[in-house]
Amino acid sequence: MRKTISLIFGILAAVGFSQQQPYVDFIQAEVKVTINPDKQEVFGSVDYRFDVLKSSDSIFLDARNMTIEEVFLNNKPVDFNYQGRQLIIKNNLRPESNHKLRVSFRTKPSKAMYFRGWNNEAPDEVWTQGQGKYTSSWLPSLDDMNDKIEFDLSIMAPKDYAVVANGKYVEGGYIDDMQRWEYNMDLPMSSYLVALAIGRYDKRMIYSNSGIPIELYYRSSDSIKFEPTYRYTKEIFDFLENEIGLAYPWQNYKQIPIHDFLYAGMENTGATFFSDDFMIDEIAFNDNSYVNVNAHELAHQWFGNMVTETSGVHHWLHEGFASYYALLAEQHLFGDSHFYMKLYKSALKLEEQDLAGNGTSLLNPKSNSLTFYEKGAWTLFMLRELVGDHVFKSSIKEYLNAYKFKNVETDDFMDMVEKIADTDLTAFEKQWLLSDDFPIERAIDALNQMSPYVQGYINTNCEVEQSKCAEILSDTFNDDIKIKIITEQPDLINPDLFDESWKVRQAVALNSKSIADNDRELYESLLDDPSYITREAALYKLWTFLPDKRMVYLERTKDIFGLSDGNVRLLWLVLAMNTSGFDQDSIKQFYSELLEYTTDIHNPSLRIRAFNYLAMLDMCLDECQSNLELAKQHYNWQLSKFARQELAKLKD
Ligand SMILES: [Zn+2]
Repeated sequence: MRKTISLIFGILAAVGFSQQQPYVDFIQAEVKVTINPDKQEVFGSVDYRFDVLKSSDSIFLDARNMTIEEVFLNNKPVDFNYQGRQLIIKNNLRPESNHKLRVSFRTKPSKAMYFRGWNNEAPDEVWTQGQGKYTSSWLPSLDDMNDKIEFDLSIMAPKDYAVVANGKYVEGGYIDDMQRWEYNMDLPMSSYLVALAIGRYDKRMIYSNSGIPIELYYRSSDSIKFEPTYRYTKEIFDFLENEIGLAYPWQNYKQIPIHDFLYAGMENTGATFFSDDFMIDEIAFNDNSYVNVNAHELAHQWFGNMVTETSGVHHWLHEGFASYYALLAEQHLFGDSHFYMKLYKSALKLEEQDLAGNGTSLLNPKSNSLTFYEKGAWTLFMLRELVGDHVFKSSIKEYLNAYKFKNVETDDFMDMVEKIADTDLTAFEKQWLLSDDFPIERAIDALNQMSPYVQGYINTNCEVEQSKCAEILSDTFNDDIKIKIITEQPDLINPDLFDESWKVRQAVALNSKSIADNDRELYESLLDDPSYITREAALYKLWTFLPDKRMVYLERTKDIFGLSDGNVRLLWLVLAMNTSGFDQDSIKQFYSELLEYTTDIHNPSLRIRAFNYLAMLDMCLDECQSNLELAKQHYNWQLSKFARQELAKLKD
């Protein structure tokens, strides 16, 4: 097995590796940096302690587009070679421990450290993103994941801001209008996981059952969103520690909402950053809760941070595992039906990907996130079915214990399972790890056997058994079946459905094709449902089907913003601008508000929605277009891609 995998992917692996220095082992880093947000600059020094395992004539650090001011090797200034990418120090190094390297540097990072809000109305924040962006863009460090270092960070930042970083806060102090924050780690990690965030944050502390301090950060203006956002955090933490079977490996755990972030979340060691799109109120909890991301990033603290892939070939050891354990946490919180339905829906997406000819093997480093995350999670789910709970859990525990704070390959994990199961897993590996195809039939079989709920769902087919569907709709207790029937056969929508759960009511709001006079009040009641998606759909349907009452509905919904992408508010603005007689004096103001949502101070999700509406109205004019030009340069790839496409359409 080891050979099969290595032979096929050896070449890819060689390409995927960043440069290594096998005879140098970096042990510890003391980072001292000053952050100057006004100049968008970082400067300071880093002191490395490293061992030389075999005589070497040079060492290097990755350092992107910096000014290197001084380099000291073993306390003596040394010459260095630096062309903007790698700092190379040519020097005969004897094989011994505890060499010292000090680098002083200064830079205005173009990526990996982001300064947001210091020159506009957005919240003033500085934050970093190492994975995919290179920590070496703001800190001379190692892009290669295979040398793990114990980092201690001392950060000077303008006072009155909170500074959060990996590790334990040990002390601080003030110098003039600057404040020093010192964080210490006691265990090693790859450089891509180094992180800091600066902002006007408050925090609340909770503790896991095992006594780990969990610091939950928020902006004081968001205090009402604190509880829904962080709901179940302690349950998730306690569940994962118990399920994984190995204690949480780091000193503490922090979670920090980030404005204008790149991703949903990033699992920096002991300090998860997540998009403030997930700072949500009670209602949005139903639409877009943080629960899955919360569990996913926490699972990475073991899978990714404690045991780390040697290269992108083994990326599923991070993402597949984090996705699988997040699903298990959801099963623990929301039950089996929820869990199996999510698996079923992810199987359908994977099948669709295969049908489009885009399926790839789990060990192909070029696979997309659907494959790494969801095929990866499916692989673990099926592996557990094959070897049984006991063997699976023992294997996970042994694997983590054997490789903690080291780097791993897929074989390291699979060999451990084979050993503990005392079974040959070659056939399993061929099907789940090596094949480009997702074994959809095998997956559906498994779900049919394990979940009568999903089985009932799969077997409901209104296209084949049209006549039966009305009956099933009134008889079944399965909400997902009801939603499926409503979606496929909107004609079957009837007043009784308004007595159902908010999820079924949402399907009614989304799929209704008309509103009968007698049902008007039922539809109006949807405007108060505990879901902004339902409220948005209901407003649109009521406005469309009952034109005489448009002004009433606009008046009733004028104070709802909705999800963080403003789904209700933006629809409201567009409808208000198109309702003759409604507040004619304010039409310009409505337009200005919509336009304002396209500016740089907002998150990509809100900006994209605003751009879309303006384009739809043929009102993306000069200012909107110059905001699109700016968005084209944005570091968030979804936003920049969207902006490029919109600009191309406008030029047509
Ligand atoms: Zn992840």
